Amino acid sequence: MSNFLPNHTLDMIDQATMLHPVSSIEDLHAKGPTLYETAQGVTLRDSNGRDHVDMGAGLWCVNVGYGHDALVEAGTTALKTLSYQHHFGNAAAKDTVRLSERLVQLFHDQAGATHLNRVFYGTSGSDANDTAYKLVRYYNNLRGKTEKKKIISRIGAYHGLTAAATSLTGIDAYHKMFDLPLPDVLHTSCPHFYRYGKAGETEAEFTDRMVADLESLIQREGPETVGAFIVEPVMGTGGVFLPPLGYFEKVQKLLDQHDILLIADEVISGFGRLGHWFATGAFGLKPDIVSLAKGLTSAYFPMSASMISDRIYDVLSAKSAETGVFMHGFTYSGHPVGSAIALANIDVIEKEGLVAKAAANGPYLLKALQDVTSGCPFVGDVRGMGLMIGVEYVADKRTKAECPAGSAPHKIVSKYAFEEGVLPRALPFLPVNSFSPPLNITRAEIDEGVSRFGRALKCAEPELS
Ligand code: PLP
Repeated sequence: MSNFLPNHTLDMIDQATMLHPVSSIEDLHAKGPTLYETAQGVTLRDSNGRDHVDMGAGLWCVNVGYGHDALVEAGTTALKTLSYQHHFGNAAAKDTVRLSERLVQLFHDQAGATHLNRVFYGTSGSDANDTAYKLVRYYNNLRGKTEKKKIISRIGAYHGLTAAATSLTGIDAYHKMFDLPLPDVLHTSCPHFYRYGKAGETEAEFTDRMVADLESLIQREGPETVGAFIVEPVMGTGGVFLPPLGYFEKVQKLLDQHDILLIADEVISGFGRLGHWFATGAFGLKPDIVSLAKGLTSAYFPMSASMISDRIYDVLSAKSAETGVFMHGFTYSGHPVGSAIALANIDVIEKEGLVAKAAANGPYLLKALQDVTSGCPFVGDVRGMGLMIGVEYVADKRTKAECPAGSAPHKIVSKYAFEEGVLPRALPFLPVNSFSPPLNITRAEIDEGVSRFGRALKCAEPELS
């Protein structure tokens, strides 16, 4: 094989040939890429041979940790047995059928959601949300409610980066250069009490204000034009924060009043991250569509699944003879290798008790992060649920004053954290470092990761003021 770029290092070839997702081209050319070579458990090794505790589990996705034998073996066997099978024209692969049964059963048993009985597959969280976006249209077209298509999302939400998913995402930085969002996607207030609660406002009052904002948006647009409301049960990329007190009960009531579907984006929260199998169960949600990806295969295979309610499926089914083929799907929908890996992944989560581990180790990590940041005047809030935790920076801890525009304390801390050998994520909306390690992280690994983070924070502090 001839070398197209002879005498180039991998760094140079990367710079000469790659356009990285969600990355600065200027930075790439100034500093080169960060190459990683191997990973095991919760530890990533970079190309300089340095180990890093991966406090992000990649992009919130490697739930069972890196290099797990059970998943590697399941994938290898599946590749040898049936390396590919599509699902168009009612074709099916056995493992995909088995996975569907397993997912439906998990939602029944672990989330009390006995109305979610059909599964549609894709390859990413973004395409799962595109599927949701299209299903809202399809369902309401079939019902003759052809105006009822708008989808409401929330400021600060992250739902992915395909065209429809970018529109659902509520962070301007992702919209700006792409002429998005699409006109039928709207965004309501961001329900982050710590940041957006007003002085003197209680959390319950804040919830009422958030729900009133949603209601007035629905009324302004006309309830007959609003098809769905999409939520991340615990907002992730927007800053890792929990819904305020009583939020979902009130939202659900409002949606029911106006015949508006609820889409739960469980791309991060699914498969144990919150110390529950699904946020749907943890928060008692009654979604019509649940988007799953990431933890479905612990990112050993790109795969998504959309859980679909009887209310939607029954309409599709009843009108099937009239409408003909359901004209939506992807080459890799229900990929048999992904399905085999997902089945093995679910087995591992069950056998190793990872949901219970996340429930027990989450508060331990939370407390360790609260302790290590307690002396830093620029850390305003440390919160989370299960192994999904955020550290939010402020200009002044006492007044909660926001960091000045343009300052990026979380990015500065992340830079030092890399040098110390720990990888929290620096999020794009608020100045927050997120912590979402593999669910099988041990307490010793938590201690090590947090003490490295503590050292990074100390190094960064002079630059934060
Ligand atoms: N939804 C949520 C809540 C996410 O956090 C993400 C990715 O981080 C997505 C959707 C998009 O998933 P993907 O990057 O696999 O398209």
